[in-house]
Amino acid sequence: MDNKYNVVVIGGGPGGYVAAIRAAQLGLTCACIEGWLDPAGKPALGGTCLNVGCIPSKALLDSSHHYTFIRNEAADHGIHVPGATVDINRMIGRKDRIVQTLTQGIAGLLRKNKVEWLQGRGRLLPDRRIEVMPTGAQPGEPYIVNADHIIIATGSVPTRLPPAPVDNELIVDSTGALCFRDVPRRLGIIGAGVIGIELGSVWSRLGSKVVILEALDEFLAPVDRQIAAEAEKILRKQGLDIQLGAKVTGTGSNNREVFVTFDSPAGKQQVVFDKLIVAVGRRPNTEGLGADEAGLKLDERGFIQVDHDCRTNLPDVWAIGDVVRGPMLAHKAAEEGVAVAERIAGRPGHVNYAAIPWVIYTWPEIAWVGKTEQELKGEGVDFRVGLFPFAASGRARAMGETGGMIKMICGTETDRILGAHMIGPSASELIAEAVLAMEFEGSSTDIALTIHAHPTLAEATHEAALGVSRRSLHI
Ligand code: FAD
Ligand code: NAD
Repeated sequence: MDNKYNVVVIGGGPGGYVAAIRAAQLGLTCACIEGWLDPAGKPALGGTCLNVGCIPSKALLDSSHHYTFIRNEAADHGIHVPGATVDINRMIGRKDRIVQTLTQGIAGLLRKNKVEWLQGRGRLLPDRRIEVMPTGAQPGEPYIVNADHIIIATGSVPTRLPPAPVDNELIVDSTGALCFRDVPRRLGIIGAGVIGIELGSVWSRLGSKVVILEALDEFLAPVDRQIAAEAEKILRKQGLDIQLGAKVTGTGSNNREVFVTFDSPAGKQQVVFDKLIVAVGRRPNTEGLGADEAGLKLDERGFIQVDHDCRTNLPDVWAIGDVVRGPMLAHKAAEEGVAVAERIAGRPGHVNYAAIPWVIYTWPEIAWVGKTEQELKGEGVDFRVGLFPFAASGRARAMGETGGMIKMICGTETDRILGAHMIGPSASELIAEAVLAMEFEGSSTDIALTIHAHPTLAEATHEAALGVSRRSLHI
């Protein structure tokens, strides 16, 4: 094995494997170190996103959405499916096969691009050397590789909550919650963030009575208030019992059930669950990386400190994705990976941090880009708002999906789009138009002048844009 590369990437998640592919496409010799083992103990690429994050959670969200549609909505279309039931093992098996196909696909992409996968865990040594410690049932001997440039993409892991230690039986984190073999009758979730409401939706649709305990008094605090209020109303109506201002103080179990005690505005309370999911955020993963010994600077929250261009304090050592500042999102990690590969190859790299879309895959979906109304007010910016409810969209009516709205916020003077916020059917796809418009520094007038096919959900974006200058046609 040649142990010298132009670029060595540590971590094969969406940040790392994408950086490695782009570096190789640019003519650099490249290796990617990844030590992930799947539940069968087999090495796997793809990181959190493919193995235990974006992909498996969306597979279960889609399966459970179909079940809800069949049970609750199909009859309205004149379709009767009496006695629909769930085979949970088959549903989980489908999710596992999707994960396997995609992670094996990444291995194929690395081979195609001549990126060498060094199976194992990487540890930084001085002078851009890295020790690789193979993992798995019969790991080989550790060895050392040298790099002109190192890209660290070691991702993140779930934040621990001392009063609710994960035992992977009764108390689980998001990974455990993706492979329950029975539908828990009573499911508790700590944290009403992205994971809490996505996985809460999955298990609630499949029949669990879900209670979500959220420490903050506000629901979805980072989201535009109007959209968050609509989301809260719809999710409560779907059966999620969301308790705000609930501070968990302890847990206990009798090996069959979990007891959770918490302080809430109504006083001290105790609830009993069959399973409890802890979803209170994620923290940067630098465990075993040898950051201290190598002199790599971390910030006070444990993220690897980087400049705007993802350079660390060590020469020619870069860091990207969840392990550095910014939103913990797969597409943000991947874009930073591409940009860093470009910079290493001497080309300009581009990441527009002001136009990173967020999507929460509940149904209806929640999506946004740019600033919220409350942020702009806080900054003293003058703006105008256009709003269009899906109830007024012909296509949404035809689909029977009339909940939610699209909201566009533009500068009063410039008309430039400062933020777009939506809750509604296929918001995950609709947000792309607003992101593109922001990338082109577009205005509501640009979208208003763009012809949208009829009847589509995208017409709601057009109407929201028209609404910024009080020109909506269908409300
Ligand atoms: P990761 O994907 O975490 O990959 C890091 C990799 O580095 C891992 O494979 C790890 O094994 C490896 N590694 C760590 N240390 C070492 C070492 N020393 N040596 C070798 N390898 C090492 N984001 C979205 O954008 N959309 C979603 O829908 C979405 N859904 C999610 C659902 C869940 C349940 C979770 C938990 C997360 C979700 N995310 C989603 C977040 C997304 O998964 C992360 O933002 C993304 O995976 C970050 O990519 P990354 O490459 O920075 O890190
Ligand atoms: P989060 O930050 O989205 O939400 C955590 C929630 O837990 C917050 O509302 C927080 O106030 C609450 N909380 C914190 N401590 C608490 C406590 N002691 N008791 C009760 N509540 C408490 O984090 P998450 O849901 O764990 O997800 C982690 C990250 O993974 C997300 O921020 C996101 O970056 C990524 N993710 C993205 C997607 C997506 O893009 N669709 C899906 C899942 C995860």
